Formats: sequence, C-alpha cells, structure tokens
Amino acid sequence: MDCDILIIGAGPAGLSAAIYAGRAGFQTIMLEKIGSGGQMMLTDKIDNYPGFPEGIAGFDLQNKMLLQAKKFGAKLVYAEVSEIKKTSEGFSVVLSDGKVMTAGSVIVAVGASHRTLGVPGETELANKGVSYCGTCDGPFFRAKKTVVVGGGDSALTEAIFIAKFAKEVTIVHRRDRFRAVHSLIKQVEATANIKTKMNATVEEICGTDSVTGVVLKDTVSGEKTDFETDGVFIFTGLLPATTFLPAEILDGQKYIVTNEKMETAIAGLYAAGDARSGAFRQVICAASDGATAANYAGEWLEAQRGNAYGK
Ligand code: NAP
Repeated sequence: MDCDILIIGAGPAGLSAAIYAGRAGFQTIMLEKIGSGGQMMLTDKIDNYPGFPEGIAGFDLQNKMLLQAKKFGAKLVYAEVSEIKKTSEGFSVVLSDGKVMTAGSVIVAVGASHRTLGVPGETELANKGVSYCGTCDGPFFRAKKTVVVGGGDSALTEAIFIAKFAKEVTIVHRRDRFRAVHSLIKQVEATANIKTKMNATVEEICGTDSVTGVVLKDTVSGEKTDFETDGVFIFTGLLPATTFLPAEILDGQKYIVTNEKMETAIAGLYAAGDARSGAFRQVICAASDGATAANYAGEWLEAQRGNAYGK
C-alpha cells in the first residue's frame, strides 16, 4: 500500500484534507496535475477567508496551506489520475503514465476548470488576447481596452483586478442583472474605468495575430455590433474535472454526489470542494469539506482495519 489516504487534487479542499489526515497520523499523499493551490492561484486577493482582515494573496494562502500539510507529513506528488478502482484492500489509482498507486481510502478534491464560450476566434486567439485568468494576464493589458465576459463573482472580481492596469474594462453579460454578490456589484459601480454592457453576448472574437475586437449581439433586439478591444477575459463558470470518475458517483452535471460526511456511493471514496454537487464554491467551504472528508475517511479506514476509534 502506497499510503493510507490518497488525496487527488491539492487545492484548498485537498490541502485541508491533507492537513487533517496527516495530523491524525495517517500516511497521506496528495496527487496534483500542475501545481498546488487550485483556483486560489488564479485569484489576486482573497478577502473573505477568516483570519486575514486585510485579505491575502491566493498564492500566499496556498503556500501556507501546503507548508502546513507538509508539516504534518503529507507528501505532494505530481501526477494525473486516469482511473480509480475499488479493490479488496482499498483502492488502486491508475495514473496517466500507466503507473498504479494503492491506498486504503481516496479523497477526490479535483475542483473545476473554466468553461469556454465556444465562439469563432476563441481557440485561435488563446494567449493572443483571449485569457481565462485576470490575475495572470491582467498586467499585460496596461493602458489597453479589455472585455470581460460573464456576470458571476469571478467575472466581477477579475474585472476589478484588470481595471488596475487597463485603460477600460467592459463587462459583457448576457442578462440584465449580475449573478455576483452585491458587494462586488457595488465595487464595479464605483470603479470609473469599468463599463457594463448588459443583455449582450460575444458572438465572435476578431483578430489575426492578436485580438482586435469582438462582435457583440444584443440579446433583446438581436442587433450585432463591432466592438474594439485588445483583450477578452472569459469567466463563464466552471466545469467539474471529473471525467475519470465512475458515473455512479456523479450527478447529471458531472459533479460528485456526497452526503454530509463527504462519502460518495462507493465506500471508502470521499469527495471535497468545488467538484462536489451542491457545493458553495468558496475557499472556506472547500477547506471545510476537506477536513470533513479526512475525518470520515480516517474513521472508515480504522473501522476497516478493526481498530475503530474509541477502542
Ligand atoms: P458562475 O457563478 O457560474 O457565473 C458564471 C457567469 O457566466 C454567469 O453570470 C453566467 O450567466 C455567465 N455565463 C455562463 N455561460 C455563459 C455563456 N455561454 N455566455 C455568456 N455568459 C455565460 O461562475 P463563477 O463566477 O466562475 O463562480 C464559480 C463559483 O466560484 C461560484 O460559486 C462563485 O460564488 C465562486 N467564486 C467566489 C468568489 C468570491 O467569493 N470572491 C470569487 C470567484 C468565484 P447567468 O448569470 O446568466 O447564468
């Protein structure tokens, strides 16, 4: 057995699970495809995580969580998972390079990735003015015109960040009201260089070597207009990264179904964070899910080994 508890994903849910599992004395390994932190790494400042009244950079928060997980003995291994199989001893996890890791219990904390718009020009102009990360790419648009697509918390948070650099940010939203929380809407309204185009969709992203504009469609009148811009930032929601998981643990939108103990329909397999069905997608909730999953995964393991808590 490679470890007691294998955690897939090292965002806030996976890192918190690792802190709790490691601290409880379980051999713990986190598998991560690219780098720890998940979507925290795409966030300039997190100002609603308790304990940081001035806010904290996403990078710094992930760094502190990773240090804490390692302090309790959790290991971070860079690998992508392609399949999970239940075995008589626990689980075997197949990696994309064909290697197999074994564990008593598994916590899936894979999070979600950005949704694309699917319009002409989006793929062709990716990294040539089309971006899905304001924190990463916003500074490249100093004194330039940008469009932000979407009306949720991500779109407004990122628009506020990009506006620190850009000459003008235009938020294009398909409805007449934002989905984002009131405080973000207030901040957007108070930022002089952020404009909004409501009831509008981006139909095409134009340009050859770089973005030069977009074609907007008014969703009420159907009228199409050309709109000049140097960049297009797309924040139209998330897709759970769950394609490698068995269908029996997923809902219709491919999110993982759990109960309040973070148990899935497969005994010994737990889920935590943004990939979980019905999750409130916040860093603190992911952290809470991770702690809960680690606690019950530990209890389950102990029970399997005939060493239940309290004995
Ligand atoms: P989201 O809340 O799902 O919002 C997606 C936005 O994109 C919606 O406004 C949606 O429009 C729009 N949209 C979806 N498909 C579209 C399309 N094809 N064309 C045009 N617009 C489209 O996603 P999110 O903003 O990425 O947030 C994801 C989760 O993370 C949420 O739970 C959010 O609360 C959380 N989050 C929290 C914070 C924070 O607390 N500071 C920051 C970022 C994210 P409709 O409104 O019309 O559906």
